[in-house]
Amino acid sequence: MIKLNENYKTLKDSYLFFHIAQKTKQYVAEHPGTHLYRMGIGDVSLPLADAVISKLHEAVEDQAKKETFHGYMPETGDPDLCADIRAYYKKRGVILKENEAFVSSGASDELGDILDLFDRDNTVLIMEPAYPAYVDANMIAGHRILHLPSGAEDDFTPLPDNDLEADLIYICSPNNPTGAVFTKEKLSAWVSYAKKHGSLILFDAAYEAFIEEDLPHSIYEIEGAKDCAIEISSLSKTAGFTGTRCGYTVIPEGISFGGLNLNQMWVRNRTTKTNGVSYIIQKGARAVFTEEGQKQIRDNINIYKENAKCLMKVFDELKIPYWGGKNAPYIWIRCPKDMGSWEFFDLLLDQIQVVGTPGEGFGKCGEGYFRFSTFGDPEETRIAAERIKALLG
Ligand code: PLP
Repeated sequence: MIKLNENYKTLKDSYLFFHIAQKTKQYVAEHPGTHLYRMGIGDVSLPLADAVISKLHEAVEDQAKKETFHGYMPETGDPDLCADIRAYYKKRGVILKENEAFVSSGASDELGDILDLFDRDNTVLIMEPAYPAYVDANMIAGHRILHLPSGAEDDFTPLPDNDLEADLIYICSPNNPTGAVFTKEKLSAWVSYAKKHGSLILFDAAYEAFIEEDLPHSIYEIEGAKDCAIEISSLSKTAGFTGTRCGYTVIPEGISFGGLNLNQMWVRNRTTKTNGVSYIIQKGARAVFTEEGQKQIRDNINIYKENAKCLMKVFDELKIPYWGGKNAPYIWIRCPKDMGSWEFFDLLLDQIQVVGTPGEGFGKCGEGYFRFSTFGDPEETRIAAERIKALLG
């Protein structure tokens, strides 16, 4: 008889977003015609940049003619797009070799697939509050999970403790859900830990484009990181590709353990398990890295940043402690009056029809906190901010 992966039995139901959807559905059923201000989702609300749209149209036309038609793309990515990605890193002083950047169909896909490279007998350190997929993907893979809580005392950017024994370490910076960004010093401490313990860092840079202060966008800005870290990034939030699907992964050439080389393993994995990202999408993605594309995506990011400012102003006025907002599209607040995170969720929904995300859903230490996304429509965000102010003021 076929044996299924028993690890699925240990997974919790996708409790967080399912529970939020259930609660909001019930509220709308009981209050027909009510408008909800949705500040919970991590999806973008603005369309793709014109430069991208125009290249996507061009690519569709290319596929209509024999002379410009493209079949399978290289499994590891269009070499021109890989070169664009390397040039993007170079602007920040990070030099990547020709084979070190891979095109992907998004960070989620990579976060799951990359686990193929690791033995089941590994301990994975996940700093919490965390993006829920990290825990779930590692439970499916059957890894041991070490939950490292963080909090206000360490600004949600914890430091390593040499007593911890972790083989694979997740760092998400800027962080979802807290919006916190690791400083160079803190990342250096993790790189030193990884080198000392023979561990590998998995750096999730999905929100790097939102950093405006002098903070690292990439783990490779830290000396020594090319010996012990891989990086997964995405055009989803940077350029509105959530529904278009394109991202990139960096695996330095020089990381080997036990006679196996990570970069070569990933090439082998991709050439076995994918036939590359579509020509059309990759042509559209190339436009993101042009001067015009960069300007246009920046304009969109600035609209989300205005949303963040509008909310931060209210939390400042209300003297509610918060993290994020400045270098990330999320604002993570301490629930007022020591409320629990679901209690605060219910209060916002019942009283002002604002929907956010309870911190408890991102790990136990997220209890008592609440996440607001700044990816919404500016007018909706402005009204939601006014309503929060009136309710809590
Ligand atoms: N990593 C983090 C931290 C995220 O928050 C998300 C999406 O919300 C992803 C990765 C997945 O991004 P993508 O759309 O590229 O799959």
